[in-house]
Amino acid sequence: MQAPSVGGVMLPRGNGQSVRLSRGASLTDFAEKINANPASLVAVMMNLGEMVTATQSVSDDTLKLLADEMNYVLEIVSPEEEDRELLESFDIEFGEDEGGEEALVSRPPVVTVMGHVDHGKTRLLDAIRKTNVVAGEAGGITQHIGAYQVSSEVNGEDRRITFIDTPGHEAFTAMRARGAKSTDIAILVVAANDGVMPQTIEALNHAKAAEVPIVVAVNKIDVEGADPTKVRGQLTEFGLVAEEYGGDTMFVDISAKQGLNIEALLEAVVLTADASLDLRANPEQDAQGIAIESHLDRGRGAVSTVLVQRGTLRIGDTMVVGDAYGRVRAMLDDNGNNVEEAGPSTPVLVLGLTNVPGAGDNFLVVDEDRTARQIAEKRAARERNANFARKGVRFSLENLDEALKAGLVQELNLIIKGDASGSVEALESSLLQLDVGDEVDIRVLHRGVGAVTESDIDLATGSDAIVIGFNVRAAGRAQQMAEREGVDVRYYSVIYQAIEEIEAALKGMLKPEYEEVELGTAEIREIFRSSKLGNIAGVLVRSGEVKRNTKARLLRDGKVIAENLNISGLRRFKDDVTEIREGFEGGINLGNFNDIKIDDVIATYEMREKPRG
Ligand code: GDP
Repeated sequence: MQAPSVGGVMLPRGNGQSVRLSRGASLTDFAEKINANPASLVAVMMNLGEMVTATQSVSDDTLKLLADEMNYVLEIVSPEEEDRELLESFDIEFGEDEGGEEALVSRPPVVTVMGHVDHGKTRLLDAIRKTNVVAGEAGGITQHIGAYQVSSEVNGEDRRITFIDTPGHEAFTAMRARGAKSTDIAILVVAANDGVMPQTIEALNHAKAAEVPIVVAVNKIDVEGADPTKVRGQLTEFGLVAEEYGGDTMFVDISAKQGLNIEALLEAVVLTADASLDLRANPEQDAQGIAIESHLDRGRGAVSTVLVQRGTLRIGDTMVVGDAYGRVRAMLDDNGNNVEEAGPSTPVLVLGLTNVPGAGDNFLVVDEDRTARQIAEKRAARERNANFARKGVRFSLENLDEALKAGLVQELNLIIKGDASGSVEALESSLLQLDVGDEVDIRVLHRGVGAVTESDIDLATGSDAIVIGFNVRAAGRAQQMAEREGVDVRYYSVIYQAIEEIEAALKGMLKPEYEEVELGTAEIREIFRSSKLGNIAGVLVRSGEVKRNTKARLLRDGKVIAENLNISGLRRFKDDVTEIREGFEGGINLGNFNDIKIDDVIATYEMREKPRG
């Protein structure tokens, strides 16, 4: 049979062979696997009525459609599977306890606190920690390492519970999105004076999706107007029925502020764990688990808090965490004490890694340094490839009109973050009032005050939304994540500009121009005053690299304090340099601008012409 052709391009055809592709692969990846020209696959898709660029990451369905059309059998490999295969090639199994039933010993539950902003998550985590320091381990300086363990007496037995202390469900979502199950039980905090709010429901849905049992903490019962009964009623609608109403969810009325009923809450956690989970692990094997929080420390290098899930982690062990590796030089517990070993469900701060792993990365102990390095390098290489492949924009204001015309979307999903609730509301209501005809709806999926977070990008990724930052920027790794996932994040400082641009996009009139490319961020650690140059920021470069003569803005608590600054001087020790890379310290001079404070972040960027289409 002769191969069909479109516009003179010969279309590749298979004989029913199977092709393995990573989830989120592009047509270029596909073409590489079957030795075809990427352009010919673009042509096949066009033939099928879909406009897809060669490098854009496409959905499972699209890959499947393409494979069927060309007579290949497609096998899509998830990142988790890929990683499992990588480890298998080293004869390592991750995620299963070694040995049989008899090797398993019970372990403490790991708990995440979730709920609406301001309902008291942070306060509750503090209260639990204060009232329940594990006996005999007090005395050290309390350290915030991202997780801690407390003990509680339940039915005459001393029971331990591990809390993930990165409030909000951001960490939870990020970890779940990466397939790392970190949590056994979720405490859903609901303020009794405020009731169920949007993020309460969001949190609840995350917990349900992860199949994690929920204990409800009805907080702020000390406040006038608190109505714990109403909260129970409201949550019934979402499938959480209190035990006293015949359901199987434990509700505990507490006051985090007054330390009221904290013990009862801990007991509810233990009882829920006993009733619905079988929490056991083998403490005798090489340790495995996940990274919860990591950063670059000035004196100690890369430090990472890991949660041991099985096995026992010891000083001197060789470990791989995501794409970082190293030999455990020292370990600290949540009280700042040095420890020699850590068993299942124990969080410890680990020193000795080569670089900083991400939240939710898995860790494992291996026999040889060489194995650790090889696994880490393979993972890093894979990540780079994936980034490269996914560079294509999934959905942006520029291609909105095309997508609308092709009937690919009927609505524009937005996530709005801003510096104040007034501006967010103003922007939202003006956008919703835009007259855009009948074909398209504007939906605001989420709004909030504060920086654009990883959780926002997660939401945008899952729902093809565009993120708008009004006088705020991306925090932490959110920018990198957006770039990796191809999420369009737009920043504005003038409301009408945002409105104009979105209106233009909907009418198909938005012309790509210049786009801002983030180069790096640096955190101000010290301020030096020079009579000649004014204030000089002593910084640690947190991400990317900072280059001389590029543009910059100054952020304080995630808010933009000054725009349009220039990196006019850059030094390392006594030398003028042209760039400083991630992980290194140096001095930055922002020209005439002197209003800097410790902990401010200098974010540098460059304007690049945006490719059309
Ligand atoms: P988060 O955003 O959920 O972490 O909330 P926070 O823990 O920061 O608490 C928000 C505010 O509510 C803070 O001002 C707390 O002091 C206050 N708060 C938290 N728990 C209680 C409580 O039980 N009673 C009262 N009266 N205030 C509380």
